[in-house]
Amino acid sequence: MEFINNQKMSVVVLGAGQAGTQVALQLASDGHHVTIFERNTMGSGSSSKNPGRMGHGFHYSDKDTAKVHLRNTIDAYRMYPDFCRSRHRPLGHPLRYGRYMITKNSDISVDEMLSTYRAVQQEYARLCAEDHDNEIFGPPEKMWRIMEQSEYKNDCNADLVALGVETHEEMFDIQLFYSEVRKWINQNPNVDMFEQHEVVNIEQNGTEVKHEFIITIYDKMSGSKKYVQTNIIINSTWYNIEKINSWLGVPYKKGTRTNRVKAIICLDLPDDLENLPSMFFCMGMFCMFTNLDNKRGIATYALHTNREVNTDIEVNENSIALLENGISMEEREQIGKKIFKGLCQYIPKLSKAKVTDVRFGVARTEGDTKSLQDLFDAQNPFHKRNYNGIKEHRIGKGLLVSNPATKLFYFVQNRQIVSQMVENFDKEREEKLKPDWNKLGA
Ligand SMILES: Cc1cc2nc3c(=O)[nH]c(=O)nc-3n(C[C@H](O)[C@H](O)[C@H](O)COP(=O)(O)OP(=O)(O)OC[C@H]3O[C@@H](n4cnc5c(N)ncnc54)[C@H](O)[C@@H]3O)c2cc1C
Repeated sequence: MEFINNQKMSVVVLGAGQAGTQVALQLASDGHHVTIFERNTMGSGSSSKNPGRMGHGFHYSDKDTAKVHLRNTIDAYRMYPDFCRSRHRPLGHPLRYGRYMITKNSDISVDEMLSTYRAVQQEYARLCAEDHDNEIFGPPEKMWRIMEQSEYKNDCNADLVALGVETHEEMFDIQLFYSEVRKWINQNPNVDMFEQHEVVNIEQNGTEVKHEFIITIYDKMSGSKKYVQTNIIINSTWYNIEKINSWLGVPYKKGTRTNRVKAIICLDLPDDLENLPSMFFCMGMFCMFTNLDNKRGIATYALHTNREVNTDIEVNENSIALLENGISMEEREQIGKKIFKGLCQYIPKLSKAKVTDVRFGVARTEGDTKSLQDLFDAQNPFHKRNYNGIKEHRIGKGLLVSNPATKLFYFVQNRQIVSQMVENFDKEREEKLKPDWNKLGA
């Protein structure tokens, strides 16, 4: 049995996506020693399938979700301003705007959407008044505006649009970010990261031992198993969270969480579309185009983007085939073509763009989604993202935390919440270890 030396190991983080890497850096700066195990490479999960659009939550009709989204975006922007692609561009540049098109077939009325947008604006004004540094999208009164049809009719199929709205936005450079995260981790004496190391089992260690958990890791490079002991596990494995928790007896109730496999297409843009604004066609047949700058884009079209929904403890076989390169090239191309065709109904001029890749990832939501059809029901709780998804499980003398990044930019709060949980746990443990002087007769 090969044990990884864990003399100074205090916390083990499973999964190196946005949630895992950010929590690891936080715990390391709190003074803990952190070891991360990632079964593939850092950032290769859902976090790299994300367009990185730093919006205000205008694609949500639920006010609470939109406001939570706004707050988290501001926190992420303030924490990592250097990764916002356009921040050195003037506010008037086309790539500093996002457009939200409420479609004519929308399930939510224009009035209802406008009332959400006003609520978000109010929240932004409140946050700016609270702390002037929160004013990252310009003055609150200029945060968004209703567009004239003449302003967008050349960029998209205006016949499908009931109302067009423009907001100030930013784009987060995820690729650049992960290359820096790798450097920070490598340079940090408090963090060790093991990639190509898959967690395949966790057990409780017995009653009178120093460490509560014993983790079995499969090292994909050497083909061997390794073992690690710890009292604190931060499970940041996204759609595998419940499966891994169940090894330690944490029950999962089917239907309390949905894993949805989504496809996203990557585009090369022709020269004349270099500055085509990012657009969301919301609340009807959802469609998204994001301009990533440098003549690259990314897009979805709801009818074909959503491939699988699953509420079991593990993702199903069809999902695994999509996520782990288990489908043929032709099938992948077909999916890409369908998404592209749908997208071009909304933005006809994108027919000149070239699809360069189709990528699959998982969006995870609380609640039950029985079929892909449920996604088109505007009242389905699946449309809410007003929660952080963190859960604390006390197991024997150990702490297990479920730590998903419900949305990419929700990680700032997750860092703080998980850090506090670990601190409380440590304090309690110290208290328990203190000698009882009364009993000792002191
Ligand atoms: C197509 C698509 C579009 C999206 N668009 C948006 C958007 O516009 N805005 C937004 O905010 N969010 C969006 N999301 C959601 C967003 O990407 C996620 O909320 C976020 O990336 C989740 O981060 P995470 O770190 O929790 O998960 P991940 O990035 O998936 O990280 C989990 C990591 O755990 C590893 N892992 C799993 N099992 C094991 C194991 N047994 N052992 C070791 N490691 C393991 C995985 O390999 C992975 O690297 C989108 C998601 C998808 C798929």
